[in-house]
Amino acid sequence: MRPGMNLPSFAIGGAIASILLVAGIYFPGFGQNPPTPAPAFVIRNAQVFDGTKLLGTASVWVKDGQIKAVGRDIKVPPETKVVDGAGDTLLPGLIDSHTHDWEAQMLQQALVFGVTTQLDMFTDPRFAAGIKKEQAEGKDLNMADLRSSGYLATAPHGHGTEYGMPVPTLTSPDQAQGWVDARIAEGSDYVKIIYDDGSTYGAHIPTLSKETMKAIIDAAHRRGKIAVVHIGDQQGAKDAINAGADGLAHLFADSEPTSDFAALAAAHHVFVVPTLTVLESVSGIASGESLTTDPRLEPYLTPQNVANLKRSFGQLPTHPSEKYAETAVRELVAVHVPVLAGTDSPNPGTSHGASLHRELQLLVRAGMTPQQALAAATSVPAKTFHLDDRGEIAPGKRADLLLVKGDPTRDITATRDIVAVWKAGVEDDRDSYRAEVAKQKQQAASAANAPAPQGSESGLISDFENGKPDANFGAGWSVSTDTIAGGKSMGSMKVVSGGANGSQWALDVSGDVDGGLPYAWAGVMFSPGPQVFAPANLSSRKSLSFWTKGDGKTYRAMIFTDSGGRIPAQQVFVAGSEWKQVTFPLSAFNGTDGHDVEAILFVGGPQAGKFDFQIDDVQLH
Ligand SMILES: [Zn+2]
Repeated sequence: MRPGMNLPSFAIGGAIASILLVAGIYFPGFGQNPPTPAPAFVIRNAQVFDGTKLLGTASVWVKDGQIKAVGRDIKVPPETKVVDGAGDTLLPGLIDSHTHDWEAQMLQQALVFGVTTQLDMFTDPRFAAGIKKEQAEGKDLNMADLRSSGYLATAPHGHGTEYGMPVPTLTSPDQAQGWVDARIAEGSDYVKIIYDDGSTYGAHIPTLSKETMKAIIDAAHRRGKIAVVHIGDQQGAKDAINAGADGLAHLFADSEPTSDFAALAAAHHVFVVPTLTVLESVSGIASGESLTTDPRLEPYLTPQNVANLKRSFGQLPTHPSEKYAETAVRELVAVHVPVLAGTDSPNPGTSHGASLHRELQLLVRAGMTPQQALAAATSVPAKTFHLDDRGEIAPGKRADLLLVKGDPTRDITATRDIVAVWKAGVEDDRDSYRAEVAKQKQQAASAANAPAPQGSESGLISDFENGKPDANFGAGWSVSTDTIAGGKSMGSMKVVSGGANGSQWALDVSGDVDGGLPYAWAGVMFSPGPQVFAPANLSSRKSLSFWTKGDGKTYRAMIFTDSGGRIPAQQVFVAGSEWKQVTFPLSAFNGTDGHDVEAILFVGGPQAGKFDFQIDDVQLH
């Protein structure tokens, strides 16, 4: 929900992510597979939950990617393949009503966990358009279907602008229609609006005015689009409802719902996507941690998934509590406000697909019955978002199906015990995915046991005393700038005389940060592994230290680890007029133990302008 609030690294990660993911953004075809004719089959003897209610034990006949018949005694051609579902429950494929997707792998992962449709609530519209085009052509059957808002509506420097992707912002109601029409032209399926000043999290960030929010909602309605408003607190939720929002993205964690809240939501016919899992994370609880040890899910979670599921937003200066949201869920359900299951993956504490199972568990903990929770992830979002071909097990619907062991209408966590997932009648190859995850886990384990890089014995990375930008080990130093993310920042490095502690040489890093990207950067990167971005085992070291001086500006030291994914962790330092030593424990970089360090960066930005600083005696202790 607020990646980057107290983990600014996440925000930066967006910037760097979008670079490293250029392939994912511009060439979504990498995950493309030719349309596969779906073989006909019939699932027999399973208990069927049709999206709204239990049908008891029934047979479901699937042909040409569609559900042809449902019933106790349906007749199918004799050669039809039979799937025996005795002891199992058949559900419609799950729908996650709040995700962020910017690479095809995320959609593949979602499908493995039974999520057949992802309702993205902010991504690069070019990515969404590419995926949707392929899906319209019947391709990408190994991925969840994508629907997306594309860009979100936000104020300049408001929430949503911190991820490194340039976002078209608004400042007044008269811009609303033009903004909405531009999104529709890009392919947005619905409109997502940010109305949140960050106060719940102890931040103060710009947000749209009430009038502008309302104008965007009206503009969306004029074009027949649903308007979903991201809110951060209870007052924001009420403002959004009064402004005519169709739905709320998130419930609030700042206060106990007032006695009139549920009635207000009901009177205005809004739907609500509580995202309890990310609100837990905001409350300082690593919401996804329990998933990482669940044997039903663990074999499908990559080391990066596991690392992210164990994260939270940490302790905030304020004290938000997901308990307020749970109370609100209970009260909303009592007055029949549609509640939809959404995760806000991949924020800290979440992971695509897997976290929807946590959300279902939390919705039940909040007071929904298991059947209500299952409807919140199937028929209710399908109806709400006009996805008329799915969300239900009924003749004529698309064969998006999830077969699980046991009975999730009694124990909601049974949704995790997946037997099979079908999208449009094609069974997902979960075994291959699991084998790939096992390989990644093995690689991570061997990285943890790998010897330290040769030449790193003394701990010294560089003192630059040979007058060159050389390093004692690894692939050395290189310039890193946001040009690879579409930015225009420039940077350079050169060895200059007058090093720290009376030494002869130091490394000078200078450049000009362009204001075009909210998380612009320019600086230098040290690669400790044998090649750029190959992980090195530095776990025998506890801290990173270096000497610095410069123009008095604030700079960032950043570390990329393999298990941290494409999201660097960072610490800030000031380079003043005198040489000064700076030391950071490695664990200060998102808790890394240093076993898989891919890069160490020293960079300027995101503030625009020229900068100049020096580093010397860069060392691991
Ligand atoms: Zn979100």
